[in-house]
Amino acid sequence: MKSLPYFSRGEVIRGFGRGSKELGIPTANFADSVVDNLPADIGTGIYYGWACVGNGDVYKMVMSIGWNPYYKNTKKSMETHVIHTFKEDFYGEILSVVLVGYIRPERTYNSLEALIAAINNDIDEAKMKLELPEHLKLRDDNFFTSPSSALPPNSASTSQTILNGH
Ligand code: ADP
Ligand code: MG
Repeated sequence: MKSLPYFSRGEVIRGFGRGSKELGIPTANFADSVVDNLPADIGTGIYYGWACVGNGDVYKMVMSIGWNPYYKNTKKSMETHVIHTFKEDFYGEILSVVLVGYIRPERTYNSLEALIAAINNDIDEAKMKLELPEHLKLRDDNFFTSPSSALPPNSASTSQTILNGH
């Protein structure tokens, strides 16, 4: 995927209440404008990377890029599970992410237990891969420390979104 690493940021909106939080794996959904800017070569599936809420600390994350049921599956959605326990929800806040690598395609599971096991495997893989020096480097990228400037070249369309509002 030539677009990786891919930098993106935007508002966290309410999802479809699919109960991710009840599974212990809440996923912060990005506003449509962020999803609209995804390059074509970033397909559906599970990705790993770094994420930061507002100007908070940078944590490891896993992201699912899938089809959005609200738009009758004609449009992608981006859902980020930040690998950190937050004290409060952060709807309406700005989430900054860098997609670093791809883990696996989306698939369906026969049971809730199988789904949770798969997600926990994804989280373990993300934690391990992100320890590689070339991936750790991205955690310290200017992108996370100067929210309105220093956007890397391939995130130009995203910064446009931020500058123009949603
Ligand atoms: P929704 O369907 O509205 O996306 P979820 O059950 O997926 O609901 O919960 C997502 C929300 O939980 C996020 O928008 C965020 O405000 C909150 N949240 C709390 N902790 C986390 C976390 N570690 N990762 C992602 N979202 C979190
Ligand atoms: Mg969600």
